[in-house]
Amino acid sequence: MFRIRFHGRGGQGMKTASRILGSAFFMAGYEVQDAPRYGAERRGAPIFAYVRAARSTINERGIINHPDLVVVADDTLVGMPAAGVTQGMDENTLLLINSHESAQTWGQRLNTRARILILAAQEEVEDRAELPYIGSRCAAAAAALTRVISREFLIAALNEELAHLNDEVIKGNRDIALVVFDEMATQADLVNEGVQASASDYVRPKWIDLPFERAEISNIAIHAAATSVKVRTGLWRTMRPVINYDKCSGCSWICSTYCPDGAINVRDDGYPEIDYEHCKGCLICVAQCPPHAIESIAEQVARGQENGATP
Ligand code: SF4
Ligand code: SF4
Repeated sequence: MFRIRFHGRGGQGMKTASRILGSAFFMAGYEVQDAPRYGAERRGAPIFAYVRAARSTINERGIINHPDLVVVADDTLVGMPAAGVTQGMDENTLLLINSHESAQTWGQRLNTRARILILAAQEEVEDRAELPYIGSRCAAAAAALTRVISREFLIAALNEELAHLNDEVIKGNRDIALVVFDEMATQADLVNEGVQASASDYVRPKWIDLPFERAEISNIAIHAAATSVKVRTGLWRTMRPVINYDKCSGCSWICSTYCPDGAINVRDDGYPEIDYEHCKGCLICVAQCPPHAIESIAEQVARGQENGATP
């Protein structure tokens, strides 16, 4: 059975990638599961989707813990623990990263036994949530690496899953997906199909007796205040708002009120300050600031500047 996980950000089309790959497997005669997992998805938030495909009935359910192939659409997620990209990878896993950097560089960065392959990233775009055609590129790469899906089935799956789009967009996705499919079909580093667990090997978990507790102890309830502050929504950000204090007139009630996440604090001197741990990068503040004192810059560029890179 093939177990494949796609990782990306909300808006990058990982759900669509899993559907395209799932449909292509189905056309090739496989039993298939494909499902996205994104909880409270918002644009830019780390999400994943997965595909299982087997020649016989699939008895496994739930998320894939031990993937044969992990496809990463956005390389800024690889080192992010909350994204869970490296979860369950071992020497049987092939990690395919859409990146400008080499497999060797990623190998040095990651403490992993997985094999690493690069899907050459296209031209950098300012906002990573807008990576063009990335869902179709990832689906095509995965299809080629399994070596069991033909070009024809990939085209049919793309046409089926993108049928709601206009002809020009579908053609654009198809053209670029086929280029990736042909490139990946020449790779030697391929996906190894994992063994399917048999339902007859299933071992029931041991019964555990829990002592009876009073309802206020056994019933899970959160009584603490302000727990949402522990959710670091700042990692969803692909674009960063930056206040230019030379232009800022200090009308902080405007930007701090419009920010849906309460991520703009008002300093003692009356001027605003952005809490980047919780700013999710929606850029509403940029649109609302009357003297246009808030600029937006790509998160990658902002991080590079923090680390001393030349802008
Ligand atoms: S709305 Fe704009 S000008 Fe007013 S305080 Fe906020 S950043 Fe400054
Ligand atoms: S981009 Fe602006 S409005 Fe949106 S969360 Fe960040 S600070 Fe708030």
